Amino acid sequence: MEAAFFAGIALLCMGSFIFRLLTLWGSSAAFLTGALTFYSFQWQGLVILAMFFLTSSLLTKWKREVKQDYYSETLEDKKGRTVGQVFANGGASILAAIGAVFMPDPVWLIMFTGALATATADTWASEIGILSKTKPFHLKEWRKVEAGLSGAVTRLGTIAAVLGAAAIGISYYFLYDTSNLMGSGIIIFAGFFGNIADTLFGAWFEQKFFCQICKTETESKWHCKMKTVRIFGLPWVTNNLVNFSSTIIGALMAGGLYIWTVN
Ligand SMILES: [Zn+2]
Repeated sequence: MEAAFFAGIALLCMGSFIFRLLTLWGSSAAFLTGALTFYSFQWQGLVILAMFFLTSSLLTKWKREVKQDYYSETLEDKKGRTVGQVFANGGASILAAIGAVFMPDPVWLIMFTGALATATADTWASEIGILSKTKPFHLKEWRKVEAGLSGAVTRLGTIAAVLGAAAIGISYYFLYDTSNLMGSGIIIFAGFFGNIADTLFGAWFEQKFFCQICKTETESKWHCKMKTVRIFGLPWVTNNLVNFSSTIIGALMAGGLYIWTVN
């Protein structure tokens, strides 16, 4: 029975590579994530992981033609999510799954789910928020900016973040413990909190670039098929690092609240 699950995970990852949701290395990383998740958190953990992965992939493809104006696709984007993106969104949940292997404790599941609630909130916020009719408001610069930049918020994106975190929190409720409404509440709160951390990190620390062709700010090293110029931030503070840090914060917030309420 277990072998069937591992085979299923492998098949899904191969399919994601074939349908260009993931690059080859990205799908290998996804297999590692899936296998560890199943080992530590059983099939229910896989459903939560799939909730994040499938909704994110679908939302990224949704209204692609509208979004293309805001973020230029690199060659890698067209081949699917990279290994860096997989670890940026899934790294914190992998760490929780590894923790559960060595030191079994219910807190790891809450941290795993809190990290994925953050990743889901982030993805829903950016993929839905980018379609907002009003321009996003940048928290550090305290002014409206072009859509597609980290550190800026819209009302639509904020609602999407809450819904994304709630999708994971409600899944947890039905999959694991229908007596633990508090656990779901913690996960939803932690996911939204992690998303706020992501926005603040994005505003204050993430590097930004300027495209000399179309004269816009971007997060991409490439725009309009040309290399862009870095105008802000440290070279190692990439979008992936910001996402990874915020999922760690979401996991710690969920774990901390859980321990606090249990004791
Ligand atoms: Zn450009």
